[in-house]
Amino acid sequence: SAGWQGKRVTVAGLGVSGIPAARVLHGLGAVVTVVNDGDDERARAQAAELEAAGITVRLGDGATLPEGTELVVTAPGWSPDKPLFAAAERAGVPVWGDVELAWRLRGPDAAPWLAVTGTNGKTTTVRMLASILEAAGLRTAAVGNIGVSLLDAVTGDERYDVLAVELSSYQLHWAPSLRAHSAAVLNLAPDHLDWHGSMAAYAADKGRVYEGNTVACVYNAADPATEDLVRAADVEEGCRAIGFTLGTPGPSQLGVVEGILVDRAFVPNRQQQAQELAEVTDVDPPAPHNVANALAAAALARAFGVPATAVRDGLRAFKPDAHRIEHVADVAGVRYVDDSKATNTHAAEASLAAYDPIVWIAGGLAKGATFDELVTASAPRLRGVVLMGADRALIREALARHAPEVPVVDLDRTDTGAMPAAVQEAARLARPGDTVLLAPACASMDMFVNYNKRGEAFAEAVRALAAERA
Ligand code: ADP
Repeated sequence: SAGWQGKRVTVAGLGVSGIPAARVLHGLGAVVTVVNDGDDERARAQAAELEAAGITVRLGDGATLPEGTELVVTAPGWSPDKPLFAAAERAGVPVWGDVELAWRLRGPDAAPWLAVTGTNGKTTTVRMLASILEAAGLRTAAVGNIGVSLLDAVTGDERYDVLAVELSSYQLHWAPSLRAHSAAVLNLAPDHLDWHGSMAAYAADKGRVYEGNTVACVYNAADPATEDLVRAADVEEGCRAIGFTLGTPGPSQLGVVEGILVDRAFVPNRQQQAQELAEVTDVDPPAPHNVANALAAAALARAFGVPATAVRDGLRAFKPDAHRIEHVADVAGVRYVDDSKATNTHAAEASLAAYDPIVWIAGGLAKGATFDELVTASAPRLRGVVLMGADRALIREALARHAPEVPVVDLDRTDTGAMPAAVQEAARLARPGDTVLLAPACASMDMFVNYNKRGEAFAEAVRALAAERA
């Protein structure tokens, strides 16, 4: 706790990262002020709890830098162009995100980090990785968006051998001194461009994950932009670039040969050119994008020295999370699938590629995305489309341009009641053998608290439909 006593720290944002950060810093002896834009009932209740613990909270003003601030710790989602950060820069005050704080607070014998970022597949890959590390008998946790929080993992009493860490582009933006053991960028597609400002800035933030890696930088051989980021990174001497591919792997790659996941990067000697890891059918679900996630997880585990048998056992033990291509029910010969987690076009494209014919339910907050590529790639498989949400017109217009023959029902709604209406309309469009797929290609916050709630609303509407038809 050296150096924290009496240090004036401003925490930007009440929320999942701000509240624990404020408490930990206060516990270290820092003088903490939390600033927050919002001033609603929930914020007031949270503020009251923090104030009872001796932490100052300023509601309704997230723009003004409190007098005497020596460090700002920000919620990762706060946009870099907020006035608070301009004020910090003018005052020469550093700004850390939640990940930077966790990195700085880790102990001297702290567990190394195996980091995962990318536009899609982060949570799945990190959980697969943790499952593999566990199968190898290592004390580990999947930290990030789900499970244990990073700050808890590094400041709590639990001891770990290694951490499987999910990092978003926002978190990486605010984590300048993070140095992982090894890291993977799974893929790069336009997302959150409204926040980062441009694709180049978004890619640069993702690429920070490779900076200072000691053992391996894992890239997607099918996504050259990820390999470019490895080349641009400043890494420790001896750190290797390791590719993963759904095809036959080259040297220093992991890939797939006749249904077997094969490692050609981490082999014991020159005589043995390849190590078999697992079968494609050990991956759940064995869809191509998910096999790619498994290969990335395997690459990081192998970089950490995990044996092949643990890769196989860990993948077999892994079960996918809810709202990620989740089969909800069959009603009247039609399959209903919940991929509410498809919050951008790249994710939606992966799940739309897995079914045919499809009645597609889409729409929500587009976050600056365009839909031409997605619609062009998916058009041949579309039986029909049902649209809702704030930015539905963008999808409707792309469909009109590239798939004018596909019937489209625009519900013209942004209330939560639109979901049962969407399921009814989809059921009307679908024929036996079709799949009704919720893959919104958009964020959910225009209509729902989060993608979980959106997926639950879909599943509930499907169950109601099933009851009605029974
Ligand atoms: P993240 O944590 O990056 O949001 P998830 O593992 O939660 O990723 O998956 C998010 C969505 O992306 C899911 O809807 C899933 O269908 C899709 N997806 C998962 N892995 C990939 C991948 N490698 N490429 C494209 N889409 C993917």
